[in-house]
Amino acid sequence: MPSNVPAVVIIGGGPRAAGVLERLAANRAALFAGRFDVHVIEPHQPGSGRIWRYDQHPGLRLNSTAADVTMFTDSSVQCEGPAAPGPGLAEWATGVLDGSITDVPAMAPALQRQLRALTPGTFPTRQLQSQYLEWFFRRAVAALGTDAPVTVHRDVAVSIDAQGGGGHRVSLAGGAVIQADVVLAALGHTDAVPGGQSADWSAFAVRHGGFHAPPSYTADVDYSRLGPGQDVIVSGMGLAFVDLLVLLTEGRGGRFEEVADGGLRYLPSGREPRFWAGSRRGVPYHSKISATLRGIPAGEPRFLTADAVDALLAVTEELDFWTQLWPLIAKEAGYAYYRELLTGYPERVHTGWEDFAARYAELDWYSPERIALVAQAVPDESLRLDFERLDQPFEGRRFASDRDVQAAVAGYIEADLRLRTGPDHSETLALFTALLKIYMDLGRLLPPERLNSRSQQTIHGWWHGFFSFVDSGPPPRRLHEILALHRAGVLQFIGPGLVVSADEETGQFQARSAQSGITVSARALVEARLPPPSVAASANPVLRALHRSGLGTEQQLISADGLNSTGRLLISARNEVLNADGLAVPGLFGIGPGTSGWGAGAFARPGTNAAPFRENDAVARRILHALADSAGARPLAAAASTRTAADCGKDQP
Ligand SMILES: Cc1cc2nc3c(=O)[nH]c(=O)nc-3n(C[C@H](O)[C@H](O)[C@H](O)COP(=O)(O)OP(=O)(O)OC[C@H]3O[C@@H](n4cnc5c(N)ncnc54)[C@H](O)[C@@H]3O)c2cc1C
Repeated sequence: MPSNVPAVVIIGGGPRAAGVLERLAANRAALFAGRFDVHVIEPHQPGSGRIWRYDQHPGLRLNSTAADVTMFTDSSVQCEGPAAPGPGLAEWATGVLDGSITDVPAMAPALQRQLRALTPGTFPTRQLQSQYLEWFFRRAVAALGTDAPVTVHRDVAVSIDAQGGGGHRVSLAGGAVIQADVVLAALGHTDAVPGGQSADWSAFAVRHGGFHAPPSYTADVDYSRLGPGQDVIVSGMGLAFVDLLVLLTEGRGGRFEEVADGGLRYLPSGREPRFWAGSRRGVPYHSKISATLRGIPAGEPRFLTADAVDALLAVTEELDFWTQLWPLIAKEAGYAYYRELLTGYPERVHTGWEDFAARYAELDWYSPERIALVAQAVPDESLRLDFERLDQPFEGRRFASDRDVQAAVAGYIEADLRLRTGPDHSETLALFTALLKIYMDLGRLLPPERLNSRSQQTIHGWWHGFFSFVDSGPPPRRLHEILALHRAGVLQFIGPGLVVSADEETGQFQARSAQSGITVSARALVEARLPPPSVAASANPVLRALHRSGLGTEQQLISADGLNSTGRLLISARNEVLNADGLAVPGLFGIGPGTSGWGAGAFARPGTNAAPFRENDAVARRILHALADSAGARPLAAAASTRTAADCGKDQP
């Protein structure tokens, strides 16, 4: 029976959903009079959800410091709704300790110790972050008030069906069906049914009694079959690789102890496997940075500006990433880098900043004149910013021997730590901050549909990967741990250009790098990365159902070899889910990592006009508009809601 109280169903209760809830509360007074119901569907604890749930290994951490984590909007956030400031993680921890923040359940002694030890520079555990996110969620529910009650369903949504007269029916695995005027899918990173080569490798491992972990969320994989000392090939050296090492070294009883030179020594438990790790680049992600800026503070963007992008859009329908956008990105990021180098370390350069900046502004990033300007100003070649070398550090290098590869990768990590955690290379921080701002701003400066197909693929592929490699790396300690594991013989490097195959004769996986000359055979292979996005082959029932019904579809992009799917749920620039005919489905929205939107995380540094906050606000306002439309269209004689304000925030099975 329809209700005269409009309802919004949010599928997924991770931090994006929590952020949108908070924005619903902040905007409702201006956009919606009266009552509406909110349903959040989430099998895990809402607020933290799957990735940030408490129930995971205590050794897993964020790759951001506590000072860089907030869920709250502040005056920097350029959105239509009102900013509603609140504590970031570091201030929250202080508030919990001094009793000024309540509504936090009693914490286990280990978490209390973490709270007391937390400083703004700490990389917190995911367990501690779960408490902050769940508190934020409860606060957002409370802010919505009694006439926008939130019901949490600890369940999985399995389908969304359009109703004849408007609205949707959302069916849950447990059998419940919820009528919704508006649905928001905030599903995050979802699993995909392994396909292609991954599926072949899983079958190969089963046939030969080996082990294969396809791309997954590392914390959800059962590695118990990997025995002590067993050789394991690891394909991928990003964040999933770091998590894997944590789970199978410290997680199996090994310990790290500090040594006099500031590094670490690994004391094995004897239960850890032996890792052989490689990837396309052959090196782990860059360390997070602990330096502080000492030069002229960052100003407003100068080259990658709204005016510059508008000027390009005025003369061409679709922009090209490599020829039009990237040169502006490189110039903007390069400007920040050289400003810090020239003003922070005048003794290292031959040109004054004012002079350099004036000439730099006139030149293209890829012009010989710009290269000459830098060469003249910065005598030490290793201090010149070279994006191509940064992206592919071992490009073109031939290694003489296995020993050469091991030394080169370890040396690369040591140099990275020196540059990013030493006291006198803050130009790396200026670059980091500039890239972060660009990453957050790109979607605002340029509507995705104004980029050509090839470039949209580059945004989801190379640009996201490069940004993650430089800016989304692990805490420095993790790189010290990698070096310690390497010295202890638990981890060996295969090198760049990793290629994996399966040998039916021996029943072993084989990993090789033509560049390094190393070949390794092992019965176990871990693909250390998240599953590729997929709607059609998603392991998530609701995405598969959307695909089956045609209510949702995958983003297709034209490339040289025809139409290619990115695997992402296609949404419009207004976050409307687009159906198989490319039409917006009324009242159905999508947000976050698995969509075609240029999503960027869920929490952010305070004071950075962060993209997720802007998007949360815009989506919340669209939801409120849609609810208002739907309330206006509803026949007055419709039955009253059977639920009451007392349902607020109550978990339902
Ligand atoms: C391993 C890992 C580590 C990361 N570390 C960091 C970090 O340190 N710092 C950082 O800024 N970002 C990090 N990220 C990025 C991460 O994407 C964001 O921090 C954030 O979690 C995204 O929020 P979300 O709500 O969009 O997605 P998620 O956090 O993935 O939440 C989505 C939720 O939807 C639920 N869901 C999905 N399908 C259904 C369904 N059918 N029915 C009901 N519920 C459903 C899931 O259970 C999940 O809880 C990390 C990501 C991963 C995968």
